[in-house]
Amino acid sequence: MIIIMRPNASQEAVAKVTKLIESKGLQVHLSKGDEVTIVGVVGDKSKLHGSNIEISEGVDKIVNVTESYKLVNKKFHPEDSIIPVGNTTIGPGNITVMAGPCAIESREQLMETAFAVKNAGATFLRGGAYKPRTSPYSFQGLEEEGLKYMKEAKEATGLNVICEVTSAHAIEAAVRYVDMLQIGARNMQNFELLKEAGKSGVPVLLKRGLSATIDEWLNAAEYIISEGNPNIVLCERGIRTYETSTRNTLDISAVPVIRAKSHLPVIVDPSHATGVRAYVEPLAKAAVAAGADGLMIEAHPCPSCALSDGPQSLTFEQFETLMKDLLPFAQLVGRTM
Ligand code: PEP
Ligand code: MN
Repeated sequence: MIIIMRPNASQEAVAKVTKLIESKGLQVHLSKGDEVTIVGVVGDKSKLHGSNIEISEGVDKIVNVTESYKLVNKKFHPEDSIIPVGNTTIGPGNITVMAGPCAIESREQLMETAFAVKNAGATFLRGGAYKPRTSPYSFQGLEEEGLKYMKEAKEATGLNVICEVTSAHAIEAAVRYVDMLQIGARNMQNFELLKEAGKSGVPVLLKRGLSATIDEWLNAAEYIISEGNPNIVLCERGIRTYETSTRNTLDISAVPVIRAKSHLPVIVDPSHATGVRAYVEPLAKAAVAAGADGLMIEAHPCPSCALSDGPQSLTFEQFETLMKDLLPFAQLVGRTM
């Protein structure tokens, strides 16, 4: 539940309400907006029966939060969150573009890509060092060696860097090299991994599971935030449907739905959503127009030689054109790129 304080409620009144809730063994999360303060209550609210909190000084009203996710819920925190990552922020105001290869294949491949995406205007370099492949016989990633190349690319270009983590061991290694951890679609409900990512305190990009509902996705984010890590960005990357023309079906409606349900930023990955290079540009534009906070795009120096996801990877020229073409869409929604 949330307790909405009156616009003129004093700090003392807020402190009194907070104390009362905590004295019942419940957790309090304050959200101080420009006009009102919202006191979010996490835990078994039946413990507050008989406490007469509704008549405490400064209390306007009490609203039940029926959703099982609380701290990521917009009701707990009505203002959109802006997430600090590396030398930038993700959230309202700008469009964050994360670009790079599906997998880090070599130092040369990563460096070349880093400079190309940086020159085209990306602010993040993506690249997998631990690859969750469908087949155990496919390339599994360079692991820590790949992370070292990521850090080198970061130092050479000033780009922020993001890598997927697939285990607690990978988190332990990745936090030494990257600015942001990515939890992939296949691990969205790996609850132990989510908890570890929460404990790491490092910003997390949480991709939507292949067949996850939006509520399941937000509950996954709740696992991270409830470990004390509020720096979460969501990523819609397509869901599994009966349609086979594209690898997945991009659920563009997830963007406004997340906006309505959560204060967390949401970005879109049209590369994994479609699996087809030619469809990346129109869906990237649609995502920006729909209100996404950013994009994740795969790009490779030689898509036809890529060890994974070549068919959906853009050439550097295509990526550069995409960035130029996206600009009017960003301006239309009042964002910078
Ligand atoms: C990726 O971004 O490298 C990836 C594997 O994506 P997803 O988890 O969305 O399939
Ligand atoms: Mn990929």
